[in-house]
Amino acid sequence: KKNVLIIGAGGVAQVVAHKCAQNNDVLGDIHVASRTVEKCREIVASVQEKKSLKVKGVIEAHALDAMDVAATKALIGRTDARIVINVGSPFVNMSVLSACIETGAAYIDTAIHEDPLKICENAPWYANYEWKRQEDCKKAGVTAILGAGFDPGVVNAYAKLAVDDYFDRVDSIDIIDVNAGSHGRYFATNFDPEINFREFTGRVMTWQDREWKTNKMFEVRQDWDLPVVGKSPTYLTGHDEIHSLSRHLDVPTIRFWMGFGDHYINVFTVLKNLGLLSEQPIKTAEGQEVVPLKVVKAVLPDPSSLAPDYTGKTCIGDLVKGVKDGKQREIFIYNIADHKQAYEEVGSQGISYTAGVPAVAAAMLIASGEWDVKTMANVEELPPRPFLDLLGRIGLPTRIREGENDQPLA
Ligand code: NDP
Repeated sequence: KKNVLIIGAGGVAQVVAHKCAQNNDVLGDIHVASRTVEKCREIVASVQEKKSLKVKGVIEAHALDAMDVAATKALIGRTDARIVINVGSPFVNMSVLSACIETGAAYIDTAIHEDPLKICENAPWYANYEWKRQEDCKKAGVTAILGAGFDPGVVNAYAKLAVDDYFDRVDSIDIIDVNAGSHGRYFATNFDPEINFREFTGRVMTWQDREWKTNKMFEVRQDWDLPVVGKSPTYLTGHDEIHSLSRHLDVPTIRFWMGFGDHYINVFTVLKNLGLLSEQPIKTAEGQEVVPLKVVKAVLPDPSSLAPDYTGKTCIGDLVKGVKDGKQREIFIYNIADHKQAYEEVGSQGISYTAGVPAVAAAMLIASGEWDVKTMANVEELPPRPFLDLLGRIGLPTRIREGENDQPLA
């Protein structure tokens, strides 16, 4: 038994707690720790209410400031956690990683570290933070799996699978993320607004012909005809996984496309042009200091509150082009997730579901030894098959479309 410490108590943590509970025969005791202990208690209550625990076992809530390395180490010690699933805000990544390295616990996260005061950093992003601790992980024999959500995460495994099993040469990977769901609010983000907006306020950096190319957000549009969700407009977007994939896979072009409706773009553009998305403090006429982005976050709906009314589906996948046996080949490896189904199963919306389930799959593969690599790794550096097979069993099945042919991953 490994015992798991979950850090954070947002929508993704809710999914992670339920999925750990559903697999507590392999994962052991479950501890949920966050800044606001009330939210942890609500997650524990929800797991008990839905009777998610597979076998009788411990699930407990704890108050923790995860920026405090000593406090995090102490909690890892008290709970005897051997695996830490960090699904707190990405500002805490580096301190939680330190606590893991110093205690020997395995580390998993789903997003790249961010500095609260830097909104637009230069690629390579992982090299600015996490990868600086690579040698320390190796020395300490600590398994640290970076970006094990859906994107980054599952899409990295799709890319590796394509390179290994479906192509002799891959020319391009286009990662496409479309949420065709509807939450019924005037405007809301699907996860922390602060993090969500940061993704789109900076420059868009993508890997094209083995070089970083820069664009503005909403400058390059591409429409796709996707399985289940149909015709979908998307825009070229910068994303964590482009960086790690460009380092680890020999693929000349890797891009990321995020689906946006006109309404989102209009509201976003107004907020941005008014300066309301700035992370830099300003003073009001009364001398009060405020951070505009924090104010916007405070007035928007809490992403986890969207879950009960969310309907529709998400389609996220990798369109891979290249050559196999001397012939051009094109496949789309993807998953369809359903918001309502996610809510019924674990009380969260589909975006939290697609991010949380893979992190638990990674924990289970560390527990079984298959991914217990005793060093730091991005998902594409690990064998994709056990991960994708397990995801198929615990709620995120993979499908592959090639021409007219569309079937589950064999
Ligand atoms: P939320 O903002 O809902 O939750 C974040 C949680 O972290 C909150 O409970 C917050 O506490 C807690 N937290 C923040 N600072 C601290 C701190 N110093 N100490 C302890 N706890 C803290 O986010 P989500 O659940 O939506 O997302 C969680 C993570 O998953 C994010 O990193 C996000 O980027 C990532 N993600 C990844 C995806 C993927 O596919 N790879 C997709 C979606 C999300 P409090 O309640 O007090 O504010």
